[in-house]
Amino acid sequence: MHRLAVGIDLGTTNSLVAARCGAGVETLPDEKGDHLLPSVVHYSAAEPALVGSEAKARLIDDSANTVSSVKRFLGKSLTELRRQNRHLPYEFDAARGDTAPAIVTAAGVKDPVQISADILRKLAERAEHCLKGSLEGAVITVPAYFNDAQRQQTRDAAQLAGLKVLRLLNEPTAAAVAYGLDSNDQGKVIVFDLGGGTFDVSLLSLQKGVFEVLATGGDTNLGGDDFDHILADWMRTQLSPGTEPVAVFNARLLQIANAAKHQLSSEDEVELSYGEWSACLNREKFATLASELISRTINTCRRVLRDASLSVEDVDNIVLVGGSTRMPVIREAIAEFFAKAPLSDIDPDKVVAIGAGIQADVLIGNKSADNFLLLDVNPLSLGIETMGELVEKIIPRNTTIPIVKAQEFTTFKDGQTVMSLHVVQGERELVADCRSLARFELRDIPAMVAGAAKIRVSFQVDADGLLSVTAEELSTGKKSEIQVKPSYGLDSSVISEMLQASHDNAQVDMEVRSIREAQLEARQLIDAISSARDVDGALLSENESDRIGNVIRKLETAMTEAGSNQIHALTEELNRVSGNFAAQRMDLHIREALRGESIGNVEET
Ligand code: AMP
Repeated sequence: MHRLAVGIDLGTTNSLVAARCGAGVETLPDEKGDHLLPSVVHYSAAEPALVGSEAKARLIDDSANTVSSVKRFLGKSLTELRRQNRHLPYEFDAARGDTAPAIVTAAGVKDPVQISADILRKLAERAEHCLKGSLEGAVITVPAYFNDAQRQQTRDAAQLAGLKVLRLLNEPTAAAVAYGLDSNDQGKVIVFDLGGGTFDVSLLSLQKGVFEVLATGGDTNLGGDDFDHILADWMRTQLSPGTEPVAVFNARLLQIANAAKHQLSSEDEVELSYGEWSACLNREKFATLASELISRTINTCRRVLRDASLSVEDVDNIVLVGGSTRMPVIREAIAEFFAKAPLSDIDPDKVVAIGAGIQADVLIGNKSADNFLLLDVNPLSLGIETMGELVEKIIPRNTTIPIVKAQEFTTFKDGQTVMSLHVVQGERELVADCRSLARFELRDIPAMVAGAAKIRVSFQVDADGLLSVTAEELSTGKKSEIQVKPSYGLDSSVISEMLQASHDNAQVDMEVRSIREAQLEARQLIDAISSARDVDGALLSENESDRIGNVIRKLETAMTEAGSNQIHALTEELNRVSGNFAAQRMDLHIREALRGESIGNVEET
C-alpha cells in the first residue's frame, strides 16, 4: 500500500508541493494547472482567507490586509522587521509587544505562524485533491541558516495546518537530492539558491552516495525582491508621486520593476513606463544598478569556500535553485567566479520541492532509506560558559548534525550544591562576545570538596537543528535539561558578522583567553596559600613569610596589569618560594595522621 506523503517548499515568494506520482516525484498543480502558489494571503471580514494568486491580486488595492513574504517575518521581532523591510504596509498589533509581532487584519489579528499555516493548508488541500487520499506526513524545507526560533515557527505553522512534520529539511540538501547527486561516486557541489527573499550557498561533499554539508553561508535578507526594490528606487528618483496614496504608488512601482526584471531575463532591453514617464533599461544598466547585490552573492561563495579550506577549482558542480537564478546577470557572475557554467537542468523553482518530495516518500516508508543519508551542519559553535567568563565550545561550527557531544565539568567551590549553566553560541573566546541562548541550573548536587563532583553536560542537536542541553551529576544521576529556542534575530547576516568578528579578533581573543586562564590559576594559588597561612602560619619564618608576601603582592599587581607570560612567571615564582612551606605542612599533617592512627591502634588492643 502506497502511503501519501508530500514535500513542501514554503518559499518567500512562492510555495510548492511535490509528491510521488508513478515513477517520479513531481510538483502538483492546482485546478488551473499552476504549480507555484504565490506565498500571499488576503484577509477579509466576510470570506475565508484567500491564498495564492487571488490574494496576490489584492496586493495593490488592499495592501493592509494582504500579507506577502511572511517567511521573512518568522522568528523576528517587530524592530527587526521594520529595520529589514522598507515600506511595510501593515498595522501591527501594539498589544503583542516587540517580540511577537502580529498584523491587524480585517479578519482579526494574525501572526506569522497563522499566516504561514494558511499557505500550508492550501498546499495540503491541493495535494489531497490531486492524490485522492489523506496525507500522512510532510517534509518541509527551510533555508540552511534558519535559526531554532524560525524552524520552530515553521513546525508550529505545519501543526496548525494539521500536517504531521516528518522532518524539516534544509533547502540546499533537498536540491541535491532532487538532482540525484547521491548516485555519483564523489564530488563537491555548490548549491546556489537565490529565491525571492533569501539567499543560501551550501558546499556539499559527496562520498559514495552520502551527502555532507561542508560549509554554508548566505543572507536571509537578500533575494529577488531586493532587485525589484533597486529598480523601484531607481524609478522613484526620476518620478514624482501622483495623487495616489504612497502605499499604492510604492506597490505599483514594485510591480513594474518586477515585470521588467523578468523581461530582462529573456530580452536584452525593456521599456519601463509609469503615467507620462518612460525609460529604456538594458541588461548592462541593470547589472550596474544591481552590482552591489551581485557581488554580495559572489562574496558569500568565496567565504563558504574559505570556511571549508577549498578553492574554486575543487568545485565540480554548481546547482542553481530559486527563481532569481534565471537572471542572466547572476548566471554570468557565477560562471565567471567558478570558471564553469552552473547546472540548471531542473526548474530552479521546483527543485527544492521535488527533493523534499523524494525524502518524504523515503521517510514515510515507501522507499528504502539506505539509498541516501542526509547530513547537515550547525552554522555557529555551541558551548558553555566556564570560569573567568570564558567559553568552552562543545559543538564546533560546521559540525555535521544530528550530533550528541558531552563533556565533564566539576564544582568550583567546596560544598557547592548548585551549578548554573549558561549556553552560548558563537566563535569568540569571551562570553560577552557570544550570543546567549539559555541559562538553567542543576540543583541538589551532593556537597563535596571543590573539583570532586562530576557533572556531565551533553549537547544534542537533532536533525532539524534544535538544541537540547542536559546536565547530569554522575554519582546521583540527578539531571536537569533545557531545550533551546533562542529568541530572535540570528539570521545569516548576523552569522557572517559574528564570523567576521571572530576572524578580526582571533589574535586579541587568544591573548585575552590566556590572560584569563593565567589569572584563574594565580588566583587559585594565592587563595590556597592564604588559607594555609591562616591555619599553619606558625610554620613560617619571618623571612619566608615576607618573601611569600612580596611575591603575592607582585602577582596581584601583574594580574591586573600584565600579560599572561608575566603572570605565569610570577605564579611559578610563588610556587617556588612557598614550596618549603607546603612541604612542612605536608610533614605536619602526615605526622598528625600517624599519631591519630597509633592512638586508634592502642585503643583497639
Ligand atoms: P522563489 O519563489 O523564492 O524561488 O523566488 C522567486 C523570485 O525569483 C522572485 O523574486 C522572482 O521575481 C524571481 N524570478 C522568477 N523568474 C524570474 C526570471 N525569469 N527572471 C528574473 N527573476 C525571476
